[in-house]
Amino acid sequence: MKALVDLIEASHHLDDDQLRVLLTTTDAVVVDYLHERARAVAQAHFGTGVFVRGLIELTNVCRNDCLYCGIRRSNHHVARYTLTTDQVMECCESGYTLGFRTFVLQGGEWGDERADWIAGIISEMRRRWPDCAITLSLGEHSREVYDLWRECGADRYLLRHETHNADHYASLHPAEMSHDQRMQCLQWLKELGYQTGTGIMVGSPGQTVDHLIEDLQFIREFRPEMVGLGPFIAQHDTPLGNHPNGTIDMTTRLYSLVRLMLPSALIPSTTALATLSPDGRLQGILAGANVVMPNLSPADYRDQYALYDGKAHTGSEAAEGLQQLAAQLATIGYHIDWSRGDYRKNLAP
Ligand code: SAM
Repeated sequence: MKALVDLIEASHHLDDDQLRVLLTTTDAVVVDYLHERARAVAQAHFGTGVFVRGLIELTNVCRNDCLYCGIRRSNHHVARYTLTTDQVMECCESGYTLGFRTFVLQGGEWGDERADWIAGIISEMRRRWPDCAITLSLGEHSREVYDLWRECGADRYLLRHETHNADHYASLHPAEMSHDQRMQCLQWLKELGYQTGTGIMVGSPGQTVDHLIEDLQFIREFRPEMVGLGPFIAQHDTPLGNHPNGTIDMTTRLYSLVRLMLPSALIPSTTALATLSPDGRLQGILAGANVVMPNLSPADYRDQYALYDGKAHTGSEAAEGLQQLAAQLATIGYHIDWSRGDYRKNLAP
């Protein structure tokens, strides 16, 4: 089975049956080897530096009703908030002082009627911090809106496809959302020149190994610059609140497989992984991830951006906890890389 790991490292591709073997093997020696090779490839491209992104959770107001998400519109147990433009600028100001050179604006989804307000925020960020990358993670919009935000200075966009299987997608989302529209949005983002990120929740309700294979083949073909993979974690006020959480084992296997398929990809070791275990973040990096996204949102609002139960947002998950993050990384021989960390193809010599 180790030969399959060598094959995906050399060719960046496995067929469905070969992927199935690596996704289902219970042989710990093979899984360790998979992580080891993915880590070696990540180090060949990025050294032992880990890029940091300052995450600003702009709003928990959302028009969507995704069955897994704690900020879905039908969840009436959430106190809703939206940061003001001034609050966003204060987050960036303190983030810049801490050393961040990428800001990620993430939030629930609004209709295009708020697009101009967001465009104003992006323009202001671009004017005040011209050396920083601006990443958006604000859901599905029209091509015109994506174009407007790109023109205002946004560089990157994260939009997880969530699952590439249309039936599985339909089981996780309300009827008004469609897999085809998600794919269309990803295509537009790429065409408009965004560094584009996609990805999935690992262990989402109804997910099978076949779905994961489909997701991996899609990711390989789509060639996103960023790949966001985090375990599904139940949120008690959602229809899927009783479903078991995804696992660290499957999430880190996927980090390694994606790293070997797309060696230059930017792969965050996600907050959801860190929520499952205090060393989840480090396990992700040791499996080939190379980005972390500490929380820069105002502390008073972090509890309200409750996508899932127990979401970590203090200590090394918080921008204020950077020393703690640096110390954690040092225990595995890694350090924070303070550069913008843009996608660069074939970084290795
Ligand atoms: N609205 C934007 C969007 O749809 O891309 C960005 C915000 S959305 C809350 C960000 C991501 O959170 C989603 O892509 C989803 O994968 C993740 N998420 C939502 N609920 C989750 C849960 N219960 N467990 C783990 N991840 C979750």
